[in-house]
Amino acid sequence: MTTTGLVQGASVVAAVLFILSLAGLSRQESARRGVNLGMAGMALALGATIALALVRSERPAGVTAALILLVLVVGATVGTWRARSVEMTQMPELIALLHSFVGLAAVLVGYGSYLTSYPLGHAGSGAGADTVHAVEIYLGVLIGAVTLTGSLVAFGKLSGRLKSAPVTLPARNWLNLGVIVACAGLLAWYLTVVGPASGAAAVVPLLLMTVLALALGWHLVAAIGGGDMPVVVSMLNSYSGWAAAAAGFMLGNDLLIITGALVGSSGAILSYIMCRAMNRSFVSVILGGFGQKAGPSSSDGPGGEHRETTAPTVADQLVAARSVIIAPGYGMAVAKAQYPVADLAAKLIGRGVRVRFAIHPVAGRLPGHMNVLLAEAKVPYDIVEGMDEINVDFAETDVVLVIGANDTVNPAAQEDPGSPIAGMPVLQAWHARDVVVFKRSMATGYAGVQNPLFFRENTTMLFGDAKDRLEEILKSL
Ligand code: NDP
Repeated sequence: MTTTGLVQGASVVAAVLFILSLAGLSRQESARRGVNLGMAGMALALGATIALALVRSERPAGVTAALILLVLVVGATVGTWRARSVEMTQMPELIALLHSFVGLAAVLVGYGSYLTSYPLGHAGSGAGADTVHAVEIYLGVLIGAVTLTGSLVAFGKLSGRLKSAPVTLPARNWLNLGVIVACAGLLAWYLTVVGPASGAAAVVPLLLMTVLALALGWHLVAAIGGGDMPVVVSMLNSYSGWAAAAAGFMLGNDLLIITGALVGSSGAILSYIMCRAMNRSFVSVILGGFGQKAGPSSSDGPGGEHRETTAPTVADQLVAARSVIIAPGYGMAVAKAQYPVADLAAKLIGRGVRVRFAIHPVAGRLPGHMNVLLAEAKVPYDIVEGMDEINVDFAETDVVLVIGANDTVNPAAQEDPGSPIAGMPVLQAWHARDVVVFKRSMATGYAGVQNPLFFRENTTMLFGDAKDRLEEILKSL
């Protein structure tokens, strides 16, 4: 069999491994297997791509191999260092940054492909690629540029470098529409001039479109408010997949097309799931047209008197309870409190208390963030329940421990139509007999909205770092 045949065979196997990996990742129990299958597929894909590069290279094989080795060593060193040094709480921003790299790669591949097909200053000497390839380049650069700036803004918002409040320019939807229409017009211009004899002429509409697409990516994500960021993260995940697929078309690399399409479509499905979880419209998300409610909200201001409690008092409440639900949120990740939370759950179960975890789909800063942390602390999967399953049970629960969650347990989402998070389904913790909220202050959550739960009759606040407070409770038990 020829090297090309072997590479094609390896590509098919890698593609199947990626599909099996996605299937594995869809359930907690099989997630580890999914990751291993994905790594095996990626190793095979990398090997096949390097083999193909060596076969196709016009340079001496030794030079090509040395260049590939160099970039592999640089990439692997940076990747290993980041993977080891990144805090779990920084994962979402790191992922957003990685999405921006995919966008940048698509833009660079697009311009590389353009310059190879239509060399500047050598009108008439280009390879004369066909119209389909010219459109591939245009779309690849367009998707890549939107992904690049959109992901950078998401990185800024998730890392706190940019304000999470939405940037609401006047006539923002018309602006977006205008940019899309302008990009279509520039495509028509580009197609009339691009060709073997175009020289530098067609690069002008390509450059203009790139500037517009970069601005569009920035605006689409800047216009989204803090509470709606989960959908943006999964949407950019999808965009990065399509950017990779576009790069695959430009490079004539089938495996990249397949992988990009898998990432693109699974990201789109995840966006759809997140939209449903947050009661948002999928179409308006794609158009960046939601999350802009800026009107006054009754939940913006102070909400009245709150009552404080102490760790020994909470320990007494827990000992006397028959059923306890733990609702974790982003603060649990910040405090790295998943281990004492798991110990507390095990201790209470040992004493005959019914303990369950309530997971909101957008708790934390990543889809599945809480599930990953609880799995890390070896909390059994069968006591971890999703919002829809557990919401009906709060009314029959003695004590709810809200550990570093805020927006995901905010009744304003359902009771205040003026709230920026209005309409988002939340964990209805307030229906329980007693609610204990673990946090450090009365500060708002990610969406910047005050939480009326903290001022309810049946709620007490346990201030301080969640891990320290949980360890105190464990000592008191
Ligand atoms: P929130 O971000 O709403 O609130 C977290 C709370 O944790 C804060 O109020 C903070 O209060 C508290 N906290 C922080 N550090 C500690 C600590 N060390 N100990 C105790 N408490 C602490 O969390 P939720 O999980 O409820 O909501 C997630 C939010 O993030 C939603 O708005 C969601 O839309 C958004 N989001 C989610 C993404 C996802 O994919 N899941 C992605 C992007 C955004 P204090 O400072 O007073 O301690």
